[in-house]
Amino acid sequence: MFTQMEYQGASDLHLFHDAATGLQAIIAIHSTALGAAIGGCRFIEYTTHDDAIQDALRLAKGMSYKAALAGLPHGGGKSVIIKPRKPFDRRALMLAFGECIDQLQGRYITAMDSGTLTTDMDAIAEKTRWVSCTSSAGDPSTYTSLGVIEGIKSAVKHLFDKDNLEGIRIAIQGLGHVGMAVASHLSMEGAHLTVTDINTSLMKTAVEEYKAKAVAPDDIYATDVDIFCPCGLGGVLNKNTIGQIKAQIIAGSANNQLLTSEDGYALDRRQILYVPDYVINSGGLIFVALAHAKEDPQTIHHQVANIGKTLTQLFSASQTSSIPPFALANQQAESIISAAAFHSRDDRRIIS
Ligand code: NAD
Repeated sequence: MFTQMEYQGASDLHLFHDAATGLQAIIAIHSTALGAAIGGCRFIEYTTHDDAIQDALRLAKGMSYKAALAGLPHGGGKSVIIKPRKPFDRRALMLAFGECIDQLQGRYITAMDSGTLTTDMDAIAEKTRWVSCTSSAGDPSTYTSLGVIEGIKSAVKHLFDKDNLEGIRIAIQGLGHVGMAVASHLSMEGAHLTVTDINTSLMKTAVEEYKAKAVAPDDIYATDVDIFCPCGLGGVLNKNTIGQIKAQIIAGSANNQLLTSEDGYALDRRQILYVPDYVINSGGLIFVALAHAKEDPQTIHHQVANIGKTLTQLFSASQTSSIPPFALANQQAESIISAAAFHSRDDRRIIS
C-alpha cells in the first residue's frame, strides 16, 4: 500500500468499514498544499480491494493536477465506496459515508462520480457539509461541456487561425451527459458533426436534432474530420487507434484519454494537437468547487470560460518549448503543487 502511495505521490489514505451498513470505503488524498482536497466519489464494483485502492490513489492525483491548472484553491482527492455484491441499503451506505467524510474535518470535499447520483450527495449532506453536487446545486456536466467548447475554440484558433466553428468537421465519440450537450453547442455554432455511441437511440437523437452523420463505434477514429472529440471512455488514444486518426485536433471530455504517456508523444510525432483532457474537462470540477464555495453562476461561468485562455497560453508555451501540451501541462501542475507545498507546513504523510 505504501509503495502505491509513494508511486502516486499521495499524502493520505483513509480506509473505513461500518459493520451495520456493510460500508467499505476509501478516501485517497493526493495533496492539500493548495487547499482542501476535492474530487468525486465512485460507487462501483471492484474485483479486489487493492484495485479499489489503486483506483482512488490514481484518480486523486489526477484531481490535484486538474485543480492546479484550473486555478482552484484545492488539492486532489477521490473516494470509492465499494459496491456490495449482496443486497444493500443505498441511503444507509451514503449516510455512513457522510460520517466518514465528516471525521476528516474538511480535509476532503466529495462530489458525484461514476455510479453516484445527486440524491446520494443529498444523503451525504445530512451528515457533513464537505459535499458538493447536491440536487439543489445542479449538474456539473453542463459546465464540463461549456469548458470543452471553450477548449475546442482555443485549439481551432491556434491551429487553423479561425475565430469560429462554422464549417469545422467534428467527430464526437460518446453522446452521454457531456457529449450530447457538446453536440448541441457545436451544431448551433455551425460545425458539421459525425457521431457515434454504443447506444443507438442516442445516435438517432443526434442525427435528428443536430443533423449529425452516424457511424459505427469502431469507425469513428478513421473518420475524415478536423477534430476528434472523445466524450466516452478513457484509454481511447492508444497504439491501435492513433494510426487511424485523420483529425488534426483531439479535444474532448473523456478522462485519461491517453492509454500511456508514450501515446501522447506518438500523437505529437504525427503533429496532431492533443488538448490535455484534465485541462479541457475541468469545467465540472470548477463548478463543484465554486458551487461548494457558494459562488454565483456568473462567477462560475467566467472561470469555466477561462479554460480557453489557459489552453491558449499552454499551446503557445508548447510551441516555444517544443514540449507537447500534455507533457507541459503535467510539468506546470507539478510545479504549482510543489511551490504551494513548499509554502505549506502541512507535509503530513498519514494513514488512518
Ligand atoms: P456518460 O456515461 O453520460 O456518457 C458516456 C457515453 O459514452 C454513453 O452514452 C456511452 O454509451 C458512450 N460510450 C461508452 N462506450 C462507448 C464506445 N466504445 N463508443 C462510443 N460510445 C461509447 O458520461 P459523461 O458524464 O457524459 O462523461 C463522459 C466522459 O467525460 C467520461 O469519460 C467522464 O469521465 C468524463 N468527464 C465527465 C465530466 C462530467 O461533468 N460529467 C467531467 C469530467 C470528465
